[in-house]
Order: sequence, then C-alpha cells, then structure tokens
Amino acid sequence: MANEAPKKGACLSFDTFQSRTRKVAVIGVGNVGIAGAYAMYLRHTCQNLFLVDVDKKRAEGEALDLQHGQGLTGRMTVEAVGYEKLSDCQVVVITAGVAQQKGETRLALLDRNAKIFRSIVTQLDEHAPNAIIVVTSNPVDLMTYLVQEMSKRPANRIIGTGTLLDSSRFRTLLGVHYGCNPQSVHGYILGEHGDSEVAAFSSVTIGGLKIMENKVFGKGFEKEAMDVLAKEVTQAAYKIIEGKGYTNLAIGVCIASLVEAILNDKRSILPVSVRMTGQYGLNDVCLSVPARIGLNGVEVDEEELPLAKDELDALKNSGNLMRDLLKECVEKLKSQ
Ligand code: NAD
Repeated sequence: MANEAPKKGACLSFDTFQSRTRKVAVIGVGNVGIAGAYAMYLRHTCQNLFLVDVDKKRAEGEALDLQHGQGLTGRMTVEAVGYEKLSDCQVVVITAGVAQQKGETRLALLDRNAKIFRSIVTQLDEHAPNAIIVVTSNPVDLMTYLVQEMSKRPANRIIGTGTLLDSSRFRTLLGVHYGCNPQSVHGYILGEHGDSEVAAFSSVTIGGLKIMENKVFGKGFEKEAMDVLAKEVTQAAYKIIEGKGYTNLAIGVCIASLVEAILNDKRSILPVSVRMTGQYGLNDVCLSVPARIGLNGVEVDEEELPLAKDELDALKNSGNLMRDLLKECVEKLKSQ
C-alpha cells in the first residue's frame, strides 16, 4: 500500500512527500560536526539538515550561517533543533563530545565521551529509532561498540567512521608517491582508528597492479619508504592538532561520503568500524575492515582480505587491545 502510485489527478499528501526527502542530523556541531554538515551542504547530500548541540546558540548560529549560502548553492533547509524533530531522519551522525588535545591519544577520551553518549543514544532511540547512526566521536571504535550496546537498533545500523579517514590519508600519500590520482589507489588502513592501526600494503593496488609485486609507474616497492609513509598516516592527527588545534576538514568529507553511500544505496566498499563476528579471528569488538555500505547500513562485512602474516597479527593485536579497553569501560559504566 505504501508504495502504491497515487491515482491520476491525486497527489501525494504533504506528509508522505516530506517523509521521502532525505533528512540527516548532526549531533554536536563543533569543529567536526560543522565540517561534516558543510561538506554535506556543498555536496547536496540531503534536502534537510538538522543540527543538534547542547550549546543551542552555537547550533542556531551555525544553522543560520549555512542557510545563507542557498542563494548560490541551491535549496537545502538547515535547522537547529531538539531531538523531537529527528523522527524522519534516515541518518544521524554523532560528532558530540570532547576532542584530543595536543599530545593526547584518542583512547584518553573514552570515559568522558562514553558518559555523554548515554543520554544521546537514549534520545535517539526514543525519537529516531529507524535512523542509521554514524559514529565519529573518539575513540571511535570503542564509541561505536558502546552505541551498539546502548541502542535498541541492530548493530548493522550503527557504523563508526573508523579508518575511512586514515585510508583516505593513506591513498593520498600513495597517490603522491606514485604520481597518480589517489582515487586510483585502492588500499586500506585496518583495525583501530588510532595508534594500533594497520596499513595493509599487501592488498594495495594501483591500476590493477599490486604495489608489493609490481613496478608501478617505474617504482618498485621500497619497504623503508612505505614504513615512513604508514607512520605519517598514523601520526597525521597529532601533526594537524599541533598546527591548528583540531582536525575537521578531511573527516567532514568522510562523513559526507559515508552518509551518501547509505542514502544513495551505493553499496560502496568502505573501511569503517563494524562489529567483528569472527572475521580475522576477532569477535565482540568494533574495528575497521572493508564493509559494503548501503541503505541498510552495514550490509556485508564477512569478506576477508588475504592479509600478509605480519598484517594479520597486527590486526589481531589491535582488536585485542580494543577488547581489553572495552571490558574496563563497560564495567565502569555499569557501576555508575
Ligand atoms: P568540539 O569540542 O569542537 O565539538 C564538540 C561539540 O559537541 C561541541 O559543540 C559541544 O557543545 C557538543 N556536545 C557536547 N556534549 C554534547 C551532547 N551531550 N549533546 C550534543 N552536543 C554535545 O570537538 P570536535 O573537534 O568537533 O571533535 C568532536 C569529536 O570528534 C571528538 O571526540 C574528536 O576526537 C572526534 N574526531 C573524530 C575523528 C574521526 O576520524 N573519527 C576526527 C576528528 C575528530
């Protein structure tokens, strides 16, 4: 009945029509949230963008500032709202919480952000139970797992941005090294979005050629140079924070790309943080592995990359580290 075409001469009710427009909410419009909102605004990712922040004035200011570009970018409503307005959202992006300070690791944020998330998830379960949640706040793999535990929605509808950003950094640096468009570089950073992440060189291809096995544009695989490149990826956030105090622009683009993969049912294969269910010998933890993303969120994540032994060991190590931290955090949250 819901999909039946309207009779000739009749038109869809305003409510039905409204529910068909793409609606995305961003919870926490600080540096990262507003960069994600801005990227979605410029790319016309959706028709309605909702901004939610405990700092209502900030959300209102950002919404107004974005709205005023419509004369040049085209129509898209942007509103600062409360949770009760999110019932029709297809995707909600959580970027609320504290960010890393100079020299601080992402893991140091766990306790503070876990507390903030409990109230956010309760509100989302009440007001936007059908939305797919994209988690960006750090430590993103642990926060993704906690949201999956706290929320009533299935785990495949809760996705962490994970190493989407790190993988983009990786492909960018490889593109520069080999002198080609980073979009023509296929490769992943796996595991934690953080210090234990793994550069999966064994599966990197450019133009269909494995870089470890072939000369690409006259360049063979130089282990030392590649180790330096991988370290640059892992250390990128520290360097950016040292320079400008926070990272936000590239993650903003990642947020927009991930939301578009969902809303457009793109079935893109993206390295995002998902619940491990035995892949690579890992269970009961969220980590980034390539997953197929579409209208239902995480649709397929069981395919395993044939990793080199050292990469597989490093990925398992990353997973075990995350699981130990999670155990501690879940115990603490239960006792509060
Ligand atoms: P920020 O301090 O600039 O912004 C955080 C915003 O969250 C603020 O506007 C604050 O008012 C809001 N907020 C706090 N508690 C809230 C609540 N209960 N409900 C709604 N809003 C709330 O921080 P930021 O630089 O935007 O970073 C946000 C998060 O994103 C951090 O955890 C940071 O580490 C993370 N981050 C993740 C990635 C990634 O790749 N996953 C990249 C960069 C930053």
